Amino acid sequence: MELIADKIRHYHQILDPIGVGLVAVSKFHPAEMIRQAYDAGQRIFGESRVQELTAKIPMLPADIQWHFIGHLQTNKVRQIIGKTALIESVDSEKILSLIDSESLRAGVTTRVLMQIHVAQEETKSGFSPEEFIHYFKERKFENLRATHICGVMGMASNTDDTERISADFQKISELRRMALDLAPDLRGFDTISMGMSGDYPLAVKNGATLVRIGTDIFGERQY
Ligand SMILES: *Cc1c(COP(=O)(O)O)cnc(C)c1O
Repeated sequence: MELIADKIRHYHQILDPIGVGLVAVSKFHPAEMIRQAYDAGQRIFGESRVQELTAKIPMLPADIQWHFIGHLQTNKVRQIIGKTALIESVDSEKILSLIDSESLRAGVTTRVLMQIHVAQEETKSGFSPEEFIHYFKERKFENLRATHICGVMGMASNTDDTERISADFQKISELRRMALDLAPDLRGFDTISMGMSGDYPLAVKNGATLVRIGTDIFGERQY
């Protein structure tokens, strides 16, 4: 019981002084465990399934900032508009325009990150580096009406090779910088969300402003 609270304090002790935010990834864990983290001061939680997120929201305090971090299906977008502080996992232009039109319709502005795919695994989703750069070169963000792109999100390859992991994180940071060079009028394009339980120190070294920690805080997930 004390464990979750201890973990939250441990991470804040490391991350707060250097200005890195903590997303406590609570997917597949019950509301009571989120409550324990909340009572220890945690306010940002990450969920990866729309149904699970919308079920948990009414069970928990209203000042929680929910981050959506999973693959978002087109038919689920409407359900989460107005409910998230940040959608971190925008992985295509199609989903981005849908988020935008649904936000306009609902009269809200949605904050998002663009997920970039740099890892070796083909199974991971996200914009390829080329698609990402093209998007900013063409200034396609100017077509958005109710969406603010706040930065980038990514995952490193699933490997023990720390040099490979560092290279992946560097690439994500570098792509954000390149987008900003292409569109220097962008404001608030500051977030770099990368690093999970197994690799967050390397992510922080390579520029992360937000880390997403699940297993190390809440334990193994029961799928
Ligand atoms: C599940 C998940 C995490 C957390 O991973 P852990 O290894 O449990 O810390 C981080 N980011 C994303 C996108 C996830 O889906």
